[in-house]
Amino acid sequence: MHSRLQLQSTPSVAIEVNNLGVSLIDGTTIVSEISFSVLEGQILALVGESGSGKTTIATALLAHTRQGAKISQGEVNVAGLDILKLDENALRRVRGKQVSYVPQNPSTALNPLITIKTHLEDVLKTHAPTLAAAQQQARIINTLKDVELSHGDAFLNRYPHQLSGGQQQRVLLALSFITKPSVIVLDEPTTALDVTTQAKVLLTVKKLCQSYGVAAIYVSHDLAVVKKIADHVIVLYGGRIAEKATAAAMFSHPWHPYSQGLISAIPDIHLRSIPVPIVGNAPSLQSRAKGCVFEPRCKLATLACKTIVPPLDKIDIGDDHVVACHNLSRQTDPFSFNHHTAALKSRVIQLGTQPPLLEVKHLFASYDGKQVLKDVSFHLKKGECLALVGESGSGKTTISRAIAGLNANAAGGLYFKGQSLALAARSRSAAISHQIQYIFQNPYQSLNPRQTVRQTLLNTVRHYFPDKLKDSDEIITAALIRVALDPGLADRFPKELSGGELQRVSIARALVCEPSLLICDEITSALDVSVQAAILELIKSLQRNGLSIVFVTHNLGIVRSIADRVLVLKNGAVVESGEVDTLLDQPQQPYTQELINDSPSIVDL
Ligand code: SF4
Repeated sequence: MHSRLQLQSTPSVAIEVNNLGVSLIDGTTIVSEISFSVLEGQILALVGESGSGKTTIATALLAHTRQGAKISQGEVNVAGLDILKLDENALRRVRGKQVSYVPQNPSTALNPLITIKTHLEDVLKTHAPTLAAAQQQARIINTLKDVELSHGDAFLNRYPHQLSGGQQQRVLLALSFITKPSVIVLDEPTTALDVTTQAKVLLTVKKLCQSYGVAAIYVSHDLAVVKKIADHVIVLYGGRIAEKATAAAMFSHPWHPYSQGLISAIPDIHLRSIPVPIVGNAPSLQSRAKGCVFEPRCKLATLACKTIVPPLDKIDIGDDHVVACHNLSRQTDPFSFNHHTAALKSRVIQLGTQPPLLEVKHLFASYDGKQVLKDVSFHLKKGECLALVGESGSGKTTISRAIAGLNANAAGGLYFKGQSLALAARSRSAAISHQIQYIFQNPYQSLNPRQTVRQTLLNTVRHYFPDKLKDSDEIITAALIRVALDPGLADRFPKELSGGELQRVSIARALVCEPSLLICDEITSALDVSVQAAILELIKSLQRNGLSIVFVTHNLGIVRSIADRVLVLKNGAVVESGEVDTLLDQPQQPYTQELINDSPSIVDL
């Protein structure tokens, strides 16, 4: 890696990937024909849905594959070395030294038994063993300054669990940058962070790459984040490059139908519209189409698309811009965001003066002796969607759990349909508790893996409506249809369903309870952007049919898309609240202004 002063005005290529292919041991292709290069100081983003191959490519840059897979062909050239030709010993020296890796989840990547100082010293012992002790300490201090962490003993002697999520992610950046690599691979490094922390970490990454001439490969499913940080973007679909362009070109004029679909699926803080999902699902490795892999989902597909793999062709508006599509000539109109815009006028006025469905009065909660909710009050009307937003630790989920009766330490008043509502779920009557349903963030963990969809829904009917058991087949079918799932899926187990299908089953389970109020706790954050768009569409349609929604999220793009009103929380207290457009367009409090400014957006204002 270059020092700050050594970085040349004309950067050279830091990493060059030629015709990379990764397959399963049985020969099934995972990714193929992947070629790109990245200049010193630049950031290339790899984007696409789950199964597109982005993480496979990212790890192959360190000559690594998951179990059962192998790198079948290609070159990865870094600093004059083809990494794929190195033996295990040479690879160990290169990994972490020439090419370093920042994983998604810092809490599992850091060793809980050793201090931050020991983490950093261990990396230097492995990759810079000749450094004298004083130089080693100087390198540690400078790296911590670079990633904007304290370098005092009090911080260095902490263990990972004593740090916030943002601090842990910065420690991972420090561990990656301390060896002065040529290339850094970042695998969704900010997914677990709230929007403010994410914005700060991204700024640090960009600054360090530019300052030290490090080339970064940034894996992300969040295109708004990508627009903020990347110089170039590769859109992957089914293990192949669909489109490659500068970030400016990709976001102003994406050409590939899949790129256009991905961008149209993003909720954006500056667009009052519901994002549009891409029809269908990403294919499994075994079910990829023979010609263009996007053909089963493509509105422009023609006969040739079924059998002929489209080559990556340059389009004439820029040499850097290549697209794999047979039918570019059929696209005559310039791309524009294709969101649903109808019927999104604020419902606050339409909802009028009707009495609230839910009232929360002077809600307090504590955890481990610490006050985590402080005098929170608000109300919710029938058919209204209220978004709870704020950084991690702001109290969003604590409020949600209190409404659901799941917070044993809550105190204060809850009123539902004008009646006092017990704070503990077990003290609520069945006639009330079926009306308030909670949908969790992770659909993979919220369903019993040993029960089919039918058994899960049947248990819910049995619990709340035993007198309706004779009609359970009709109830289950109706719930699945309502969430746009094929009733034929009822006899499948969770492991046989995609993430989007699982979250729909979670919503169907809630609907079987005949709820009046749905509490949605970050329900789309574990999903691909296209699946997220489909779930948001579904939530909005349920709301139009009279359901009230409390929607917890850190994504202000989602808030703009579906909420009627917003409650902004900080450190367990309400900072600001109001009608969604007014609050997002004219925030009154500095904290709200900061949240809005830190929200990534794909729209150029
Ligand atoms: Fe669609 Fe055909 Fe282009 Fe593939 S090649 S993206 S199927 S038009």
